Formats: sequence, C-alpha cells, structure tokens
Amino acid sequence: MNDSQKVALVTGATRGIGFETVRQIAETGVRTLLAGRDEARTKEAAKKLSDAGLPVDPIVLDVTDAGSIVAAVKHVTDKYGRLDILVNNAGILLDALDKKPSQQSQQVWRDTFDTNLFAVVEVTNAFLPLIKASPAGRIVNVSSQLGSFALHLDPKSPIFDFKIPAYNVSKSAVNAWTIHLAYELRDTNVKVNAIHPGYVKTEMNGGHGEIDVPTGAKSSVEMALLDANGPSGTFTYLGKTLPW
Ligand code: NAP
Repeated sequence: MNDSQKVALVTGATRGIGFETVRQIAETGVRTLLAGRDEARTKEAAKKLSDAGLPVDPIVLDVTDAGSIVAAVKHVTDKYGRLDILVNNAGILLDALDKKPSQQSQQVWRDTFDTNLFAVVEVTNAFLPLIKASPAGRIVNVSSQLGSFALHLDPKSPIFDFKIPAYNVSKSAVNAWTIHLAYELRDTNVKVNAIHPGYVKTEMNGGHGEIDVPTGAKSSVEMALLDANGPSGTFTYLGKTLPW
C-alpha cells in the first residue's frame, strides 16, 4: 500500500450486497477492508477477491460488540493509518412476516435495533476521528425504502402493505441519524448519505428480489466514491432521490 491510496471499510461484507460492494470499490483501486464477524468466513471471502488481484484485506468486526469495534479501529489505525470510506452495510431482518405490527416480540425489536441502528451509530462514531482526518471522508448508511415514512403512508406505494415494524422503523431511524450526522459534519470534508440498494436477490430475502447483487451494490458504491461536489444528507437509490 502506498500512502496516497484511499482506504475503505465495508461492514457485513462476507456475503450479499456487502461482498459485492467491496469488489466494486476495490475495482477502482481503493484498498478495501472486507469486514465480517466470523474470522474464518471473513478471511475466506476476502481471499476470493484478493486472489482475483483486487486490493482487498479482511478485518474482523462484529458491529454489535463494543470490544470488536475498538479492536477494529486500532487495527485500521496501526496498519493503514487512515480511513476514507465507511459503508455501514451489516443488517438483519428478524420480523416474523406472518405477524401483525403489534405482534412482533420485544426481543425482535431489541435485536434489530442493536444491529441496524445502535451498531451503525457506534461503529461510525468510533471511526469518525479517522474519517474526519481524510481529505474526502465518505460515510454510506445502507438503509431501505422500507424506512420511508412517505412510502408507508401512500396506499399506491409498492411497500404500503409491507409493514414489518422492527426492521422498517430501524431503517427510518438510520435515515434520521444520517440527517443528524450530515448536519454535524456540514462544514467538513465528510459526506454522509443513506441509500436503498433495491429489492436485491440475497439471503436476507431468501433469494427473492427484483435485481441482482451487482446492481444492488451500485447505490452504495456511488455514494462511497462521491467527488468533492457530491451531496450530503441524502437518501437515494441508483442516483434517484427517495422520499424520507
Ligand atoms: P445478507 O445477505 O443477509 O447479508 C447481511 C450481512 O450482514 C452478512 O454478511 C452478515 O454476516 C452481516 N451481519 C449481520 N449481523 C452482523 C454483525 N453483528 N456484525 C457484522 N456483520 C453482521 O443481506 P443483504 O441483502 O446483503 O443486506 C445488506 C444490507 O442491505 C442490510 O443492511 C439490509 O438491511 C440492506 N437492504 C437489503 C435489501 C435487499 O433487498 N436485500 C433491501 C434493502 C436494504 P453473517 O454472515 O456473519 O451473518
């Protein structure tokens, strides 16, 4: 690695959209850290990409484990001395699809928020000193159109009947957090944006979806690689603005 090479980190990247996001960012020459909670699967996933000649390294990071976050920040600081791009991609969907909004268990709410919201805040805040030191810091929060109040209120919206509350509300909160952090960082070089990847054929959806995984990674990659004129505090899908 040379000193001018940018460094990116993508959480929850052992499979699905995260793995593909690592590939596409690394293809632009950015040193990209493939983060996963299981060491063996993380190394195996990173090796697939580094064996193909891409600048990809593994890093162990369980986003819900405070000690793991501290260790990951130390590793990035000691080994690379910088972090330019953070993609908060790790996410879980635990709601029982056959239950009404009022019937989801309290445990489902708590576990969902631990991973989808509190971990995003904790990981981001832990890496923020490094990202602020970058000449062009970029933070991408992988949200979902399921977090959109406007779409949930619109009977004509395709998601109107998809009321899985723990997941959906966790993504609404990620959107609100994105606005708050973008506000705090408005006079810095750091841009903070939320994206919807699309309805993507991954394990989260049992392989169902409307678009393939490479297309599903594009919105994250676009926001990760924004130039200095790019926006901050937005919510987009493939470059199109989504309603909050
Ligand atoms: P996926 O195939 O289920 O992958 C999720 C990834 O997150 C896995 O690598 C998983 O790792 C990781 N993860 C979960 N908990 C973690 C933790 N505590 N620490 C570290 N990693 C953790 O899902 P996906 O479809 O690629 O989803 C990626 C993101 O896109 C999520 O934020 C999701 O909410 C969002 N999204 C997806 C869709 C869609 O249609 N697929 C639509 C809208 C938004 P393990 O292998 O260790 O479990």
